Amino acid sequence: MSLIVQKYGGTSVKGIDRIRNVAQRVAADYDAGNDMVVVLSAMSGETDRLINLAKEITENPDPREMDQLVSTGEQVTVSLLAIMLESMGKRAVSLLGSQVKVLTDSNYMGARVVDVDPLRIRALLKEKNIVIVAGFQGCDMRGNVTTLGRGGSDTSAVALAAALESDLCEIYTDVDGVYTADPGVVPRARKLPVITYEEMMEMAGLGAKVLHLRSVEFAMKYNIPLCVRSSFSNEPGTMVVGEGRDMENLLVSGVTVAKNDARITITKVPDRPGIASRVFSAVGDAGISVDMIIQNTRAGGLTDITFTVPKGDFKRALEIEKKVAEELGAENVAGDAEIAKVSVIGVGMKSNPGVAAKMFAVLARENINIMMISTSEIRISCVIEKKYAELAMRVLHSAFGLDAEEI
Ligand code: ASP
Ligand code: MG
Repeated sequence: MSLIVQKYGGTSVKGIDRIRNVAQRVAADYDAGNDMVVVLSAMSGETDRLINLAKEITENPDPREMDQLVSTGEQVTVSLLAIMLESMGKRAVSLLGSQVKVLTDSNYMGARVVDVDPLRIRALLKEKNIVIVAGFQGCDMRGNVTTLGRGGSDTSAVALAAALESDLCEIYTDVDGVYTADPGVVPRARKLPVITYEEMMEMAGLGAKVLHLRSVEFAMKYNIPLCVRSSFSNEPGTMVVGEGRDMENLLVSGVTVAKNDARITITKVPDRPGIASRVFSAVGDAGISVDMIIQNTRAGGLTDITFTVPKGDFKRALEIEKKVAEELGAENVAGDAEIAKVSVIGVGMKSNPGVAAKMFAVLARENINIMMISTSEIRISCVIEKKYAELAMRVLHSAFGLDAEEI
């Protein structure tokens, strides 16, 4: 007998028929003798619908009230699943985050889990209840409702799994696992049987939308194996685990593309101490985060600085840097939003040099110019022109031996 935490995403609970499907799956695992804790999202589209209602009133709704509002989506699905399970003759109890108690900080709409109290759930499990918990939400020290940021119910599930010392956390979604690339872009992408926490984090941070980034951080910290699988099939899914466990020994496990950044270049800045600090504190003070940075030295004591910012902050960052450039006596500030960041990711890189060289060669062969490069221990990213993003994904996927034999 095990304690299993299962999380079902918005598409898996959209409507009564799908909630029945979830109930049947949960009941089957319960009947097999497992203790079951189920975490749910709101029905897909519901969180957006609620946000839009508030936006009809004002562009800047109070964050505390927003959490009070958007957390209702999950209250609907958990109670419906409990009613469904009861109607099938099972004992089930639904709980809100505040009833569990999922304690968070008070950072509304992006709160961090501080502590999860396992006592009430344990007591309910002992009485043979299936316990259903509203994902995405918690409460702060004063009892205010908080939410964990969009997609946050994955993190709720992992936090519960950690607190309950669960043997497994299954994340049910509408895809059947983690793929080597987005199958919509790379038709030959294939499902990975296993991936490491580190790789998954890089992928989640780079636009692969399978898992909430913080849920993977949490799972890694507490060493909880995650299984990502579909609620619409019986496919085994992808295991997300610590390094070294049954890995496939791939040099590269995935190729991703992100199109949410824009590039800013300041040319001919006088090269002296304090310049970078001035350029980057200006955007930093405005709450704009910078990702990649390049500085090239020119002759005559001048330098060019190029960096990327989120597209949503592009216009603002450009305005700010125009002022900074004027102050510093730089020549010009230019921007480009038509860029894409293509990355290859794999723990195999740690022990195998040459991955970067191969990536650059593959892009060169297609005549794709690399504008910026950044790396981590297990990732190499190149900024290229947006129009080549899909092509780059496909050729890299193939060059690193990831293509499925058949499609
Ligand atoms: N319902 C929330 C959202 O749409 C949380 C989740 O689905 O994970 O962001
Ligand atoms: Mg999700």
